[in-house]
Amino acid sequence: MAETETLDVLAIAAHPDDIEITCGGFLIKMVEMGRKVGVLDLTRGEMGTYGDKETRLAEAAEAAGVIGLTSRENVGLPDSAVEINQANKLAIAQAIRATQPEMVILPHWEQRHPDHLACSRLGYDACFLAGLKKADLEGEPFRPRRILYVSYFRNTDYSFLVDISDQFEKKCRAVAAYQSQFGKTRSGKVKDLVKSTLNVYDMVESGGKNIFQPGVTIYDLMHTRAHQLGQLIGVNYAEAYTVKEQIRIDDPLSLPGRSI
Ligand SMILES: [Zn+2]
Repeated sequence: MAETETLDVLAIAAHPDDIEITCGGFLIKMVEMGRKVGVLDLTRGEMGTYGDKETRLAEAAEAAGVIGLTSRENVGLPDSAVEINQANKLAIAQAIRATQPEMVILPHWEQRHPDHLACSRLGYDACFLAGLKKADLEGEPFRPRRILYVSYFRNTDYSFLVDISDQFEKKCRAVAAYQSQFGKTRSGKVKDLVKSTLNVYDMVESGGKNIFQPGVTIYDLMHTRAHQLGQLIGVNYAEAYTVKEQIRIDDPLSLPGRSI
């Protein structure tokens, strides 16, 4: 993992596992298309109820391998205390200059967790700063061309949905790397996970841990969410993305799907 290797897509998130849950399917799809994808985690997630810093870093590295990331860096900001300040913006901007991603993925600007909220703002400002010639940064000015916003819980205002039917199983496997958060998975069972849409519940051997409602695992939530979004575009599983700008389409007939 060369730190200076350039990327096509850089996903920025507050905690290890945010990326996998929110946009893991899309990242896997990009890797399968031959794109170079990297992740920048702002914190090590050390304030989470389960798992220490070292465990979470090891889990993040394992998940990176599942997705096929070109690089995964950690800014090392304090978990649950991510502040919107110039030093943090510059640290992220430096990573953007170093990797020159054409596209950046950020958390949606409306969030429940303060770190996610801060990450969204920091990420946007860092994209801007990275392009300023006189910014206190090393390297040449660079600004990503496109910013996508993603949220696991928002139910409105999507700009587009991405079919991740073929990537959903791998997405679950990436999330399953975070055993300290989501429970120990049965080895060898992961492949059966999406054989049937209801087999998702087989994934967790121990866990649940009341992170969500008792008895409801992250895989239940991922399945429900992605399957419901998939139905909106006539596929099995999908992820939803938002952009602030309008999307230009020159040939509407080239779009998949139907209106009626
Ligand atoms: Zn998070």
